[in-house]
Amino acid sequence: MKYYTKEVFKTMKIALIGFLVITIITLIKFKPVYAVTLAGETIGYIADKENIESEFNNYINDKDSNIAFRVSDGLPEYDLMLVSRKDNETDEEVLSAMKSAVVTTYQTYAITIDGEVKAQVSSEEEAMQIIEEMKGTIPAELEMKLGIVTEYSNIPVNPTKESAVASINEVKVQKETDYNNQKAEEAKQAAIATTTQVAATGKIADMQIAIPVKGIISSRYGSRSSRRSSAHTGLDIATSQGTGIRPIASGTVTYSGEKGTYGNLVIVNHGNGIESYYAHCSKLYANVGDTVDTNSTIASVGSTGNSTGPHLHLEIRVNGSPVNPQQYLYK
Ligand SMILES: [Zn+2]
Repeated sequence: MKYYTKEVFKTMKIALIGFLVITIITLIKFKPVYAVTLAGETIGYIADKENIESEFNNYINDKDSNIAFRVSDGLPEYDLMLVSRKDNETDEEVLSAMKSAVVTTYQTYAITIDGEVKAQVSSEEEAMQIIEEMKGTIPAELEMKLGIVTEYSNIPVNPTKESAVASINEVKVQKETDYNNQKAEEAKQAAIATTTQVAATGKIADMQIAIPVKGIISSRYGSRSSRRSSAHTGLDIATSQGTGIRPIASGTVTYSGEKGTYGNLVIVNHGNGIESYYAHCSKLYANVGDTVDTNSTIASVGSTGNSTGPHLHLEIRVNGSPVNPQQYLYK
């Protein structure tokens, strides 16, 4: 234990009083505030750090309306310091400066038809509602082409469902008109094709036609089988291997060779868009360019290509489309 002298006590007292005086003067002249620094720049002084911080966080995390997310250009830093009591804090100004450094990304939902954006709404629910409402009111083919895509923008957008429905209805009318026009055009083309087909088919009846081989019908035109992916495009006449094949009418040979599932194939063009095909042949006698008639032997029956036994696959085509040979032969 040490005993202080009177002198020491006196010195300590003076020091303490001095400290108190400085503190009081400091507190009278200055006050503690927070300097807010954003991206390296002091933007102002605030008194209520807690309040500003929470207001700013609320703003950043605001998911109201159609805000996708908010990103601040650097996070604000708060430094405690003493400033003159004469200086005013500007909490509100600082907060708005902090907010203006934030980039907001908005999110909308676009309704697309055939990949084209036709309307925008604020929520996915609204977009789905509109699509649901459209179903049954538009052609099924168009329904299949409806879609929803999410779009992002930094420009504030807040589209209403009403405006979306209005623009969708406009599109709907347009699309329906287009669709009906397209259907009408298709029907017109189909009618023309049918007329052409009928005219050409009529010409087959006018031709001198004869059966190409004698035999047994083993598969009819249009029949379905596990060996084929679609309906039969010709008529199968089963007969012995090597039997001579004669064309159904006079014409010009336009093909004589192998061709995929047909095997060895001869094609004869009879004019007026009419052609006949002779498939699965064992031997080919005709050459491309040959003029043939119902007495010419153009090939012999075989089982080449997609075939399970010797037969002639006879196909008659009008303007490229197969017709039923039994309208004319093997009736
Ligand atoms: Zn066949």
